[in-house]
Amino acid sequence: MAIVRFTRQRQAVLEAVQQSTEHPDAAKIFDEVRHVVASISLGTVYRSLEALVAEGHLLQIQQPGMPTRYDARLENHAHFVCDSCGEVFDVLTKLPDVTPLAAQALEGFDVNSARVEFHGQCKRCRQN
Ligand SMILES: [Zn+2]
Ligand SMILES: [Zn+2]
Repeated sequence: MAIVRFTRQRQAVLEAVQQSTEHPDAAKIFDEVRHVVASISLGTVYRSLEALVAEGHLLQIQQPGMPTRYDARLENHAHFVCDSCGEVFDVLTKLPDVTPLAAQALEGFDVNSARVEFHGQCKRCRQN
C-alpha cells in the first residue's frame, strides 16, 4: 500500500472524526480541530472532509434536513438514527447479509453492498 501523506490539517480532521463516537458533522469537527490547528477555517474542514471521503478514509451519513455527518468506522456496520434528536449510533451486532436478497429481487443487477439503517427513539429521548 502506498504511504499517504496528509497535510497537518487533513490529518487533524481525520483524527477528530476517528476520536469521536458520535458521527460528528462539520461544525462539530471544526470545534475539535481548532484546538489542534488554531489557524484552520471551516472551509478547510469542509474541503478536508470531502477529500477524506473521496479517498475512502471516511464515510458520509446523509439524512434529509440534517447536516452531513462523518463516520471513521469503515467496516460494514448498521446505524440507528434517532428520529427525535437526529443522533446517529452504531449498531455493532452482526447482521445477516441482505445483499443476496436484493440481487434475487433485481434480476440482472449487480448488487455489491447493503447499508442497514434503523430508526426510532434513542434512550435519552425516550426518558425525556
Ligand atoms: Zn434521541
Ligand atoms: Zn457508524
